[in-house]
Amino acid sequence: MSQVSKLSAQQTASILNFIGGEFVAAASGKTFENRSPVDARLLGLVSEAGEAEVDRAVKTARAALAGPWGALEMAERTELLYAVANEINRRFDEFLEAEVADTGKPASLARHIDIPRGAANFKIFADVVKNVPSEFFQMATPDKKGAINYAIRVPKGVIAVIAPWNLPLLLMTWKVGPALACGNTVVVKPSEETPATATLLGEVMNAVGVPKGVYNVVHGFGPGSAGELLTRHPGIDAVTFTGETRTGAAIMKAVADRVRPVSFELGGKNAGVVFADCDFDAAVEGMGRAVFANCGQVCLGTERVYVERPIFDKFVAALKAKAESLKPGRPEDANTGLGPLISAEHRNKVLSYYGKARDEGATVVTGGGIPKMESALANGCWIEPTIWTGLPEESAVVREEIFGPCCHVRPFDTEDEAVRLANATQYGLATTIWTTNLARAHRVAAKIEVGICWVNCWFLRDLRTPFGGSKQSGIGREGGVHSLEFYTELRNVCVKL
Ligand code: NAD
Repeated sequence: MSQVSKLSAQQTASILNFIGGEFVAAASGKTFENRSPVDARLLGLVSEAGEAEVDRAVKTARAALAGPWGALEMAERTELLYAVANEINRRFDEFLEAEVADTGKPASLARHIDIPRGAANFKIFADVVKNVPSEFFQMATPDKKGAINYAIRVPKGVIAVIAPWNLPLLLMTWKVGPALACGNTVVVKPSEETPATATLLGEVMNAVGVPKGVYNVVHGFGPGSAGELLTRHPGIDAVTFTGETRTGAAIMKAVADRVRPVSFELGGKNAGVVFADCDFDAAVEGMGRAVFANCGQVCLGTERVYVERPIFDKFVAALKAKAESLKPGRPEDANTGLGPLISAEHRNKVLSYYGKARDEGATVVTGGGIPKMESALANGCWIEPTIWTGLPEESAVVREEIFGPCCHVRPFDTEDEAVRLANATQYGLATTIWTTNLARAHRVAAKIEVGICWVNCWFLRDLRTPFGGSKQSGIGREGGVHSLEFYTELRNVCVKL
């Protein structure tokens, strides 16, 4: 979607990098286009950070760490984070408008999830750091005088935050919140598809008095651009990344020479397992959201659905009705049930899987193409919600992450078979199980190889609990005190008495 262009005399970037508390254009004058996925209209030009800006951002972040930010008491730091949360809420409508413009997602969705969670991420981690205890041991020593041994947490340093486009503010602040709460400084590289809310957050930081250089934003792409420049910069102390598994692999290589730690939240091919004893309506409702919410562009979404045979036909029919009830349309329209995909490039990828499913002989229960849209919307990245049955498990459509509003549904006969099918993937992010049998729920949840297993719900989580992926879906856990393991280092102090 985006095209890099040179800044001409007439064109000025409307979205700038944020470095040391100032909005700055790249010295190169390079910009790229930010277009709406709804109708392809130009939202603005984004200044693409080059080596000079990335270097400046990292050095500014380092200086803030040693200077005004590092000098703050924890209580002063957390007060600033509460102020950030309050200021996001005060400017809620601006954040909502910016997020919806970049992503095209229904405003109702962003109003209930993206923006409130964006604010909450600062508050929750301010609460967490204030309340976490530290280890303390009294040691015996041969001279009988003893020693005390305790651990203190210190910030890791300058954290590179690399974020995706599907839940831009939510996922970016999920990292920035704990990083700052722990006393680190950050350089954020938002997705090139969704540069707006990270930039707006710079205004918030200035407004509430977060010291300059604590929060920095560099815009650009991945390889050969701001993303790679940031991960290769010798001045960063750790990288936290959410995105595709293969991007995670590239970042790991980039930091390997300097042995920097990484926290990765990566891709998935999540299963939903629906037992015949489920609350049928709740299961259809829940799976409908898990498959189609945010046009299927949710890492925790379900693309493989396994349904116990006695209710298979009835379930497929009900899920079909759910898919067909989702009306595509403008984000601000209250009747809109489905936004567009993020970009023409991503739609081509999703459509290639729609084609593969047909080629491999899938039964297309519903969808499979591009909906007819009126006037300007015809230029948008719309796609039909799609359900398939009848594919072998080895099919690329069943194995690979598509990241669109689609799923393959397959019957199963036994609990063991359901567990085996759900686990037969290189990913391990999330699973959702639907059953009214409590013993079965606990038994199956314990056997599913994922970071989070939902029972009779989806996308529900207390932010104090651990979040992350198993297998190729991630490295590490974030959330609550678990974030502290990544964003701080434990220093051991031993005092001989
Ligand atoms: P992506 O990997 O293409 O890009 C993510 C970010 O990485 C972007 O900011 C991009 O510019 C940057 N990037 C790309 N290549 C890079 C490189 N070589 N070096 C440094 N930075 C680089 O992912 P996406 O398309 O933005 O997001 C969709 C993917 O994210 C899906 O795979 C989805 O499952 C995953 N995701 C995972 C979670 C989770 O919590 N596990 C959450 C949301 C999304």
